[in-house]
Amino acid sequence: MTPTVPSRRRFLLIAAMATASLPIAARLVPQARAAGLNKLPLDNPQAKALGYTEDASKTKNPAYKAGSMCGNCQFFTATTGACALFAGFSVTPKGWCSAWAKKPG
Ligand code: SF4
Repeated sequence: MTPTVPSRRRFLLIAAMATASLPIAARLVPQARAAGLNKLPLDNPQAKALGYTEDASKTKNPAYKAGSMCGNCQFFTATTGACALFAGFSVTPKGWCSAWAKKPG
C-alpha cells in the first residue's frame, strides 16, 4: 500500500470541496458587509419624513403604489440592503418609502 494514493485522493477531495465552496463564499461576503450596516430605525427623522415602513403592504401612505417596495427600487442595493438615501443603514427588501422609484430594467 502506497501512502501517496490516499494523500492524492485527499488532496483532490479538498480541492473539489474548496472549488465547490467558492460560490457560497462569494455570496457570504456581501452579506458580511451588510452586517456592518445598521438597520434603519423607524424613528430616524428622514425615515419618518419619507414614511418609511418595513412592510410595504401595510403602509397607508397615499403615495404608495401597489407592488412597489425597496426590493424593486432604484435606490436599493440587494447585495448589502443599503439604500442610497439612508447612508450607513440597511433597509428591508419588503420595505418602502415615499421616495420609491422603479428600478430600471
Ligand atoms: S428610497 Fe427606495 S430603497 Fe430606499 S427606503 Fe425608499 S423605497 Fe426603500
